[in-house]
Amino acid sequence: MRSFPERFDILIVGGGPAGVTAAIRLLDLGHSVGLIEQEIFPRQQIGESLSPGIRNIFSYLGAGELLDDNHYLNNIPARVHWETERAVYISAEQRASGIVVDRGMLDQQLLELARSKGLHVFQPAKLISSLYDDGVWKLDVKDGSFIRTVFSTVVFDARGRKGSLLHERLETAPPSVAIWTHVPAQMMPLETRIEAIDEGWLWGSPVVGNRYRVMAFTDSDAVKGKKLSAHFLAMVGKAGLFEAVDGQLHGDELQTCPVTSFIHKEPWDRQFIKIGEAAFTLDPLSSTGVEKAMRFAMQTAVAVHTLLRYHERSVARDFYEDKLIESAVNHARWTAAYYESSRFSKENHAFWYKRANFQLSGSKESNDFTRQFSQKFSQPLSVHAVKKPPAIPVNPLMDYLRDKPVRLSPRLTYSDEFAVTGDRVEIKRALNHPALENPVVYLNQTELNPLLGQLSEGVTYGRLTDIWSKSLRRDDAKKIITFLWSRAIFLSD
Ligand SMILES: Cc1cc2nc3c(=O)[nH]c(=O)nc-3n(C[C@H](O)[C@H](O)[C@H](O)COP(=O)(O)OP(=O)(O)OC[C@H]3O[C@@H](n4cnc5c(N)ncnc54)[C@H](O)[C@@H]3O)c2cc1C
Repeated sequence: MRSFPERFDILIVGGGPAGVTAAIRLLDLGHSVGLIEQEIFPRQQIGESLSPGIRNIFSYLGAGELLDDNHYLNNIPARVHWETERAVYISAEQRASGIVVDRGMLDQQLLELARSKGLHVFQPAKLISSLYDDGVWKLDVKDGSFIRTVFSTVVFDARGRKGSLLHERLETAPPSVAIWTHVPAQMMPLETRIEAIDEGWLWGSPVVGNRYRVMAFTDSDAVKGKKLSAHFLAMVGKAGLFEAVDGQLHGDELQTCPVTSFIHKEPWDRQFIKIGEAAFTLDPLSSTGVEKAMRFAMQTAVAVHTLLRYHERSVARDFYEDKLIESAVNHARWTAAYYESSRFSKENHAFWYKRANFQLSGSKESNDFTRQFSQKFSQPLSVHAVKKPPAIPVNPLMDYLRDKPVRLSPRLTYSDEFAVTGDRVEIKRALNHPALENPVVYLNQTELNPLLGQLSEGVTYGRLTDIWSKSLRRDDAKKIITFLWSRAIFLSD
């Protein structure tokens, strides 16, 4: 039997993109990390169409090369029949470049990369019980026929969407189901196709292995008590973009799964912390599930590093909950608006109306987290649209301003915001102003609040440049002044 340490800083349950991303970040930050995965890899996994932002994340993790596999599909154009009466063609150049991968293979390679950095992997193995005692989790892991006990200060639950029970979830959209099958790739053009129909929508895409996937999304209520295959075939039959496969599909080769979006009601429980789809799931409409799962795993890794290294428990947890709520609320707003933009929502079809006008249901067992989430979810969207000023040439402006006194806008206010400095979460003073889209802590990696603290009565722009140039490059000082002046945060008359 392999020998493993029995004590970790962090033990991760689940070896999908969220679990492995967290593992790589935490190993890079110097922690001891173990991971339990129940399946032997490569395992089958849905969610192969990855959004463009995934490339930066893979590069950041040192895994950029894994996306260069020549079996993967890049630069696929799209044909979308959603808002308008006719389908719209979007060329590969107009579309930001996503990538279609083999998730089984990619997840395995990512796990291997983490192993090469020092990750201890139990596979195939399953978490069977956990007990929290005196700040440490004692975990029983079934590893083959053997039950092994390990101890960990923090546990990351990265078991994916199937990892939570129904009563632990707060649904953030109406119940939905996905039904799909594959046809040989040559039956459809090399295009992603998306089409709204009266009772849902269809998505088609070439996938690795010379196949084309046809997937339908509909309301769970619409298929209750009905034959799934008949429903799916009827949906395909209504969609003009899928005419080529209508009548060619076989109802007995269908796959299905629930795709209702939710957020976990207690995602951080005594250092048992949910990440990825165990924390929140997204509507597949955006094809950003993997990207968001990885991004949130990286944010959680920094939060836990702040907890373990700097003992900042409440900053770590508040930052984690803030980022989780922000991601889930932003996504819910984006999807509701996208459903509303469909030509069917105007005719008030139930599928579309429910999704464009979804309200959270009140829950008897609410807690601080769900209350905070519900409040943000129901907050009306700020319609504060900020117009970006045109770029201003720095040196002529500085010449013009040199002898004028700097005045601060009376509309400038401050707030405390989370900021990640190096690998630590901190609370910093941020600038708020109607000309800024969001509160701003840093500009070009320079913290603004301490700079504004160096302003004194009657100081001129020329003198301020000299003062700031003691701690910054002179060009950077000028650029920051130009930015603040162009947003009317600094005034000159
Ligand atoms: C129908 C559908 C279509 C989708 N399409 C897209 C898409 O086009 N693009 C996109 O980006 N995303 C898509 N997604 C979402 C995407 O699949 C997920 O966002 C992503 O897989 C989440 O990663 P994760 O690491 O959180 O979970 P997962 O990838 O689900 O990984 C969880 C891992 O935990 C393991 N595990 C579970 N329980 C245990 C246990 N008890 N012990 C040990 N191990 C355990 C599992 O075996 C698995 O390997 C889609 C999802 C669905 C349902």
